[in-house]
Amino acid sequence: MRILVAGGAGFLGCNLCKKLLEDEENYVVCVDNFSSGKKENIEEILNDERFEILNADISEEIDIDVDHIYNAACPASPKFYQKNQLQTFKTCIKGTENLLKLAQRKKANFLQFSTSEIYGNPLEHPQNENYFGNVNTLGIRSCYDEGKRAAETLCYIYNREHNVKTKIVRIFNTYGPKMREDDGRVIPNFIIKALKNENIEVYGDGTQTRSLCYVDDLIDGIIRLMNSKVNYTRPVNLGNDHEITINELAEKIINLTNSKSLIKFKPLPEDDPIKRKPDLKLANKMLDYYPRTSIDEGLKITIDYFKNCLKTN
Ligand code: UDP
Repeated sequence: MRILVAGGAGFLGCNLCKKLLEDEENYVVCVDNFSSGKKENIEEILNDERFEILNADISEEIDIDVDHIYNAACPASPKFYQKNQLQTFKTCIKGTENLLKLAQRKKANFLQFSTSEIYGNPLEHPQNENYFGNVNTLGIRSCYDEGKRAAETLCYIYNREHNVKTKIVRIFNTYGPKMREDDGRVIPNFIIKALKNENIEVYGDGTQTRSLCYVDDLIDGIIRLMNSKVNYTRPVNLGNDHEITINELAEKIINLTNSKSLIKFKPLPEDDPIKRKPDLKLANKMLDYYPRTSIDEGLKITIDYFKNCLKTN
């Protein structure tokens, strides 16, 4: 099986490449433009003869032989995707279409990394796949949210009009080793501040919630989805449905790191969703997907990872 992972040097992409290489039948091509992905993320698999890197931007057409395409290419942290909003939007739209065209030419299966962000600031809780969402088209997050929504539409069109076997995963907040130290999302921010005994910054009053999934659980679900026989146009939520407030998360990380950090409150960014929790019934039923890693277990592994990063800096 020849597998292309677009965004293969990013947080989710590199964890996916590593997992796919565990199957000796697989040959993996990682395509990345290294805008937020990092060479260090793929160092440990670089010498594998069944692994290849293509330094390329998916907003330009690429042509390689493939059986499966995973499209994880796009910065996913608000800090990174807001840096160059037009580029984010183009990566989602032009980049996804280029890969869909490749899938069409090669008759490859295509899996799109979509996101819980397409539900926006949700008015339904938990969010199931039938919910249309509540996205501000003109907000600071819209380049990513609307880009990802349009990318889902492109998958639908290529499936209907060109018979491409498209699948869509809607990924909820995920964390774990290989996240960037400067990622800007809540888990790396809190852990690094806690390890340095610096103030942890909670945005808003900290009562907003997220449901956090350990990366190995998510990758397992994504591979199951690619290899499953689910209806091609039906998106599937993946994540962990254990919901906690940002205040609880800050306290947990302070305890697990034995930190002297204090919590400081900062203004809530524009359009920051108040609550988020996946309804996983479809994934349970169709993929037998059940996230196994508790938040405490996942945080301990992630804390060790960042401790190591800080040592080697
Ligand atoms: N957050 C925070 N402090 C930080 C980073 C994030 O309080 O240093 C909050 C953020 O406002 C949001 C939640 O944590 O309510 C999750 O933010 P993140 O950027 O990780 O992901 P999002 O789910 O918003 O895309």
